[in-house]
Amino acid sequence: MPVLVMKFGGTSVASLDKIKSAAKRVALEVSAGHSVIVIVSAMAGKTNELVQWVNETSPLYDAREYDAIVSSGENVTAGLMALTLQEMDIPARSWQGWQVPVKTSSAHSSARIEEIPTENIMTKFNEGMRVAIVAGFQGVSETGRVTTLGRGGSDTTAVAFAAAFEATRCDIYTDVDGIYTTDPRITEKARKLNKISFEEMLELASLGAKVLQTRSVEMAMRFNVKLRVLSSFDNPEPNAGTLVCSEEEIMESNVVSGIAHSRDEAKMTLISVADRPGIAAAIFGPLSEAGVNVDMIIQNIAEEGRTDMTFSCPTDQVLRAEKALNSAKDEGEINFTQLVADTNVAKISAVGIGMRSQSGVAAKMFRTLSNEGINIKVIATSEIKISVLVDRKYMELAVQSLHDAFDLEKIT
Ligand code: ADP
Ligand code: ASP
Ligand code: MG
Repeated sequence: MPVLVMKFGGTSVASLDKIKSAAKRVALEVSAGHSVIVIVSAMAGKTNELVQWVNETSPLYDAREYDAIVSSGENVTAGLMALTLQEMDIPARSWQGWQVPVKTSSAHSSARIEEIPTENIMTKFNEGMRVAIVAGFQGVSETGRVTTLGRGGSDTTAVAFAAAFEATRCDIYTDVDGIYTTDPRITEKARKLNKISFEEMLELASLGAKVLQTRSVEMAMRFNVKLRVLSSFDNPEPNAGTLVCSEEEIMESNVVSGIAHSRDEAKMTLISVADRPGIAAAIFGPLSEAGVNVDMIIQNIAEEGRTDMTFSCPTDQVLRAEKALNSAKDEGEINFTQLVADTNVAKISAVGIGMRSQSGVAAKMFRTLSNEGINIKVIATSEIKISVLVDRKYMELAVQSLHDAFDLEKIT
């Protein structure tokens, strides 16, 4: 029997009633002849609550215990989904990550999936079970500790199962009916895309469009998983949602396909560091060892052998970054007069594969922001994206004006 993977995000399993509606969708696919692997998230808001409990208890927490705690939300929904399906007379059972086992690296709180053996679940399918419900977002390390895959990680669990079981499709059910030109919560002019390339979705996701976790897109691209994003609230329709697919499947590429934003950015500046060979390594080495994900970097022009170094990183890593840099200073590895963290910034990015062949996109982006009186603090570009850091209070305005400037309302 062909295997189908269906993933339900937090809002789609937010109450017992929502779990029931999700189970009805699963039942439809079972009657259509599929063996279904359902990946569930925790109920909406649950993971945030658990993360907050961890932070309140221990700000610089032991990541192994963080994982033990925050993975628990998914266990509840997996069990509830199994019971709901059983009540509908559908043979189903739940699996926690370690039971499958979803084998991961031991990078707690951002572990990578290394292997998903299919035997256990396949044996059950062969014995007549129709639905395997797996708690998303979690796995087990080589040493037997529970791990989690980073926020939004159930998307990655879903794609990994689709790849391991060679599923016919991986359907990601969420609270929007597909992938839009920008977050529909920011502007009602956002338009749904019928298709988007893996490359563009990868950029949008890594730049803040949290509709899919970045690693899920990376994995779908690598294993050529047929990935679809659709609403768990609309009536089921055959070609609903947005298909994430290879570039070749898209007839006309857009210069800009989407605008992403991320409010979880912080800008950190080391004032007056010595401008000498090896200084970048001395700064970014300890940051990397402390698990800080540095994104944009600028080094100012030096004056009298001293310079300022600015970088951006996720807001929730500021404490770790400060600790790592201050201890490098105490150990005499680096020297600076001040370390300034600005957490009132946001990153805005324009993404499109058409940028490869069309010039002037950056100029248009900068002109648009300047017309709105928005100051650009840091710029970063790659082949198919341009990102800027701006004051957070301008985040919505920046997204809306760029959406207008690139005519995204007219995109199909
Ligand atoms: P789930 O709980 O189902 O995993 P998420 O909250 O993680 O759902 O992701 C869905 C949300 O992603 C939407 O509610 C929407 O606000 C946001 N989002 C951001 N950018 C986009 C985009 N370009 N297209 C669609 N949704 C987006
Ligand atoms: N529950 C986890 C989170 O909120 C994982 C997920 O929903 O994908 O990040
Ligand atoms: Mg999500």
